[in-house]
Amino acid sequence: MALLSFLGAIQQVTGSCYLVETHEGVRVLLDCGMHQGRRQDEASNRARFPFDPKTLNAVVLSHAHIDHSGLLPKLVAEGFKGPIHATDATCKLLELMLLDSAHIQEKDAEWENKWRARLGKPPVKPLYTRIDTERMLKQRQAQTYGEPFVAAPGVTVTFHDAGHILGSAIVQADVEDFGRSRRLVFSGDLGNACSPLMHAPATLDEADVILMESTYGDRDHRDHQATVEELADILQQAHRDGGNVLMPSFAVGRTQDLIYYLGQLYQQGRLPQQAVFLDSPMAIGANAIYSLFQEQLDITGAEPGGPNSDSRRIEKWLPILKVTPSAEDSMTINRFKSGAIIIAGSGMCNGGRILHHFKHNLWREECHLVIPGFQARGTLGRTIVDGAETVKLLHQRIAVRARVHTLGGFSAHAGQSQLIDWVSHFKSRPELYLVHGELEKMQVLQKVLDERLGWKANIPEPGDRIAL
Ligand SMILES: [Zn+2]
Repeated sequence: MALLSFLGAIQQVTGSCYLVETHEGVRVLLDCGMHQGRRQDEASNRARFPFDPKTLNAVVLSHAHIDHSGLLPKLVAEGFKGPIHATDATCKLLELMLLDSAHIQEKDAEWENKWRARLGKPPVKPLYTRIDTERMLKQRQAQTYGEPFVAAPGVTVTFHDAGHILGSAIVQADVEDFGRSRRLVFSGDLGNACSPLMHAPATLDEADVILMESTYGDRDHRDHQATVEELADILQQAHRDGGNVLMPSFAVGRTQDLIYYLGQLYQQGRLPQQAVFLDSPMAIGANAIYSLFQEQLDITGAEPGGPNSDSRRIEKWLPILKVTPSAEDSMTINRFKSGAIIIAGSGMCNGGRILHHFKHNLWREECHLVIPGFQARGTLGRTIVDGAETVKLLHQRIAVRARVHTLGGFSAHAGQSQLIDWVSHFKSRPELYLVHGELEKMQVLQKVLDERLGWKANIPEPGDRIAL
């Protein structure tokens, strides 16, 4: 009998990692995500893997977000030499995201080593380096949605569109063990069916074991159109108040959605701001990859910018969009005291250029901060959403006087009803495990699944292992 171990994103939303092992000695890792958020979570990125990377046959990756892919270079640095299977678009996004992640790791270590040297402490090594990442990138194997491939002997995988970000996949793994075949379906991150760019997540109907994400297991998102209207109102209010609008955003997925919505408002003459800055080199890179894989997006030519051939180039959707790739370009934004919308990373405000814009704007009551997505516990974004009066960033304390708005409707994750709808397509009642969610949210989903479908879902503990 094959075994499945729950190694990461268990009762939390980061560090996605699961291990499938057969009795014939085949080992396949599903996702190899980085822990993000609280300091102790981030420290666990340095812990040893609970398996020997050298013994893995393959990695199967659901999508490129760092909380699903961020430890791949460490895995390779510690001896993993096999293939990393992912969709073609995910393979391309990995290059962008993990080279950036390696740069952050190297810079963090460099900074830490400066103060360690002054204390007479030995230097630390970065979690991984650019060289580790470049080696890892050579192990990628691009796959196509809907086309089964043999990930490892006896493990046949098919990717289905998860509709979460470009390239995101639901992983269907058919695992043979001693002549017996079992089907594991891992939802990955399921998209919000209302996304303007993504298809609705593919529905599957057969599995023996399901791992389903539950980020928003406790609630539905606000109505989509109402959220667009809410955004339009905030932008009008910011215009009247005479301040800037800050939008911390994930470079991949959220940013492209925001550009789409802002483009829509611009075309309708409802965007009072004079300039929208995309102040994120990674998001600028992601736009190019979204344009490259435009045929995988759910866009019809009716998108903002009109149906001309250029309209699928994301920047064209919003004529007043200015990209600021270099640090010098970024600093020019500081001149704007009003009338600017600034989209910058990181999405949960834990780093990146958004911190500089916080320094210049967060303490000004005429400014508005629009949080368009989930903020994990322990992140600066969560602290602000939870109502902190002051926050510490870039070595100084800053008052939070800007108006803070949370827009739930733009989430790239399925809400509670969408999760229940997705899982209800499975014909029998396979064993269902809730993953990738905070415990309280999973408990709500567990209860609702029982009430509505009479389906008892399990909430695994970290390190649990089950027979497939
Ligand atoms: Zn994701």
